[in-house]
Amino acid sequence: MHSEFPKIKNFIDGKFVEPKTGKYLDNIEPATGKPYSEVPDSGIEDVDLAVAAADKAFPAWSKKSAAERSKILLGIADIIERDLEKFARAESIDTGKPITLARSLDIPRAVANFRFFATAILHTENEAHVTDGVAFNYTLRQPRGIVGLISPWNLPLYLLSWKIAPAIAVGNTAIAKPSELTPMTAFLLGEACVEAGLPDGVLNIVHGTGSNVGAAMTGHPKITTISFTGGTVTGKKVAEACAPLFKKVSLELGGKNPNIIFADADLDAAIAGSVRSSFANQGQVCLCGSRVFVEKPIYKQFVAKFIEKVSQLKQGDPLDEKTEQGAIVNKAQLDKVKFYIDLAQKEGGKIALGGKPPDSPNERTRDGYFFAPTVIVDLPVACRTNREEIFGPVVTITAFESEDEVIGYANDVDYGLSSSVWTQNRLTRRWAGLRMADGSWSIPRRRI
Ligand code: NDP
Repeated sequence: MHSEFPKIKNFIDGKFVEPKTGKYLDNIEPATGKPYSEVPDSGIEDVDLAVAAADKAFPAWSKKSAAERSKILLGIADIIERDLEKFARAESIDTGKPITLARSLDIPRAVANFRFFATAILHTENEAHVTDGVAFNYTLRQPRGIVGLISPWNLPLYLLSWKIAPAIAVGNTAIAKPSELTPMTAFLLGEACVEAGLPDGVLNIVHGTGSNVGAAMTGHPKITTISFTGGTVTGKKVAEACAPLFKKVSLELGGKNPNIIFADADLDAAIAGSVRSSFANQGQVCLCGSRVFVEKPIYKQFVAKFIEKVSQLKQGDPLDEKTEQGAIVNKAQLDKVKFYIDLAQKEGGKIALGGKPPDSPNERTRDGYFFAPTVIVDLPVACRTNREEIFGPVVTITAFESEDEVIGYANDVDYGLSSSVWTQNRLTRRWAGLRMADGSWSIPRRRI
């Protein structure tokens, strides 16, 4: 514990409070590898307090008119937008992502999330059905009570607000647990909620680890609904904890997404899109296209141009305005990336670019968690590197000869989160060929 660092507090019943455990964890800045604040290491007692606050707030909040709730949520959006620079800087320091990305994507998206759901609730409808003139059935959309919201570290405010906004907009009260690796913007969100006049207890934020706070939430009988975004292994634990309590659960999990480039694609557009989809946020996005498949006639040309473009990405201090590639979120994630680089070579892959940490961008970031954008070729399709989620700045490129062959490759993983296809021949491609997250076979969406 380093008492000289600022302390993040839990946000319970409208107040910023110390954790009942009295314990804190270091919050490390990925770009420097050094702690710069402390985050509560909360426990079950803190979750109980949050549940009691949410329970107390529910009757009044759920009975407010949609117009009243909408006004408060719009107020939260306005405050985040007003303080965009403060939020963006905090997100960049906490995650290691380039400040320009936090400024252009993460924080504006959090604002948009609040605005979207604040206005959506003004236009909802309930359905009624008359069955053969004998029965009259109707659907009422009502808040469920106290909901638990658990989010990961890669897009902290973006993903947390995507859960919080709809949950409280419709009249639920909520307990949110951000990743303890990236708690800062959730802390700032609590301040924005107070300023916007959100009634006490409607949103409670309990910081801490998944094994303590997360597990206490999934096991709490009064939290009837859980929305979770994170890794597949953790998602399984969440599902197992919720099933015996018959909770309503939403799980958004990992991906190992295929990005397919046909020979007729607009090559420049496909390369620009693929560089972005491979390396945005240092490859730490669930929708990243981490497996690129290129049709044989353009394979060599694609690889050469792709490598040229990737090598131009400016890696540096995330707070530098020119930086396009920042730091990896923590040492464990960096070690995981290194592990897969070794494994890829054992599996026959060739490192065509990167494969190691870069020179340190500046003195401040000498001990930061950086890894160069990495391109791997010549790997067999069915190997661990091509089948397991790395969640870092690593992409593999594989050649294919036919559409059937590449659809087989694309689906040869346990994941099914997203797929991309680059072609100018939209009408004749067999669009219904790629497996989606729920196991169905559907139309792949072109990456935007
Ligand atoms: P994790 O699964 O490790 O953690 C996600 C959240 O769950 C964290 O807040 C974590 O806390 C918490 N948690 C951990 N264990 C438990 C538990 N037993 N019960 C309840 N909660 C728990 O994911 P990461 O944070 O490492 O995020 C990366 C993963 O998220 C990647 O796999 C990525 O693909 C996925 N992801 C999916 C998205 C989608 O929309 N499908 C979007 C973004 C990311 P703690 O931090 O303490 O471990």
